[in-house]
Amino acid sequence: MIEFDDVYYTYPDGTSALRGVTYTVRKGEKIALVGPNGSGKSTFLLHTNGILLPTSGTVSIGGRAVDQKNAREIRTKVGIVFQDADDQVFSPTVFEDTIFGPMNLGLDKDEVVQRAQKALELVGLAGYERRSAHHLSGGEKKKVALAGVLAMRPEVIVLDEPTANLDPHSADSLMQLLDELHQAGTTILIATHEVDVVCEWADRVCVLYRGSVVKDCTPAEAFSDAELMAYTNLRPPIVYRVFEGITNPTPTSIGQARDKLKKLKPK
Ligand code: ADP
Repeated sequence: MIEFDDVYYTYPDGTSALRGVTYTVRKGEKIALVGPNGSGKSTFLLHTNGILLPTSGTVSIGGRAVDQKNAREIRTKVGIVFQDADDQVFSPTVFEDTIFGPMNLGLDKDEVVQRAQKALELVGLAGYERRSAHHLSGGEKKKVALAGVLAMRPEVIVLDEPTANLDPHSADSLMQLLDELHQAGTTILIATHEVDVVCEWADRVCVLYRGSVVKDCTPAEAFSDAELMAYTNLRPPIVYRVFEGITNPTPTSIGQARDKLKKLKPK
């Protein structure tokens, strides 16, 4: 679905942000990109739909190398939700913001309206159509940004720090929505610092460090690799830290941890 082949990216000020990234996202995967601040996660994500183009190497979507000419078309296949919704939500009302993308696809008006309504329903914002997008809470704005992406019906949804600044309930409901979209066939790639979210949610983890992929594995493999955690400055999820050295293998989710605790007999 998405293929990075030896991608290097250097910002105009000379900062080298990606250094030889080779990585494949297959159709139907749920992948979490993790790594310390400045490791290149956002830069990586901005390459998945042509917002940034590699300084060298290639990024291909569905087998086609992304370039300046097809970047617009690629954006219909891969939709990005930015970390800061203020970078994405700019129309006066929620409805206008949600129809912006599909309107630009040249679809007929009924189709655009139907898509926007469906997308707002999915994110739980039906009834917000006439509200001013600028007066919404951070979490609501993030949902508007996601609705705008969903209305494009992309095959892949990419989200930068989707749960940042959300209260726990909003974060859980967003991750549940991503699960539902995934079950409906959407490929999902997120960048996050929330390791607890990663171990509950992702099928695969891509660990970035100083602009390179240093590990591509399951969450369990990544978080039980003490050496990797130490040199990448990552902290394993709470279930790992609680059970480390007590049970082998360490539970990889809160559900598994509960099952283990239930089996312990009180003295
Ligand atoms: P992450 O998302 O993992 O925190 P980024 O992709 O944002 O990492 O940044 C990777 C590197 O690129 C960092 O050194 C960062 O300072 C630098 N960087 C990010 N954006 C820019 C920019 N617009 N101009 C110059 N350097 C940038």
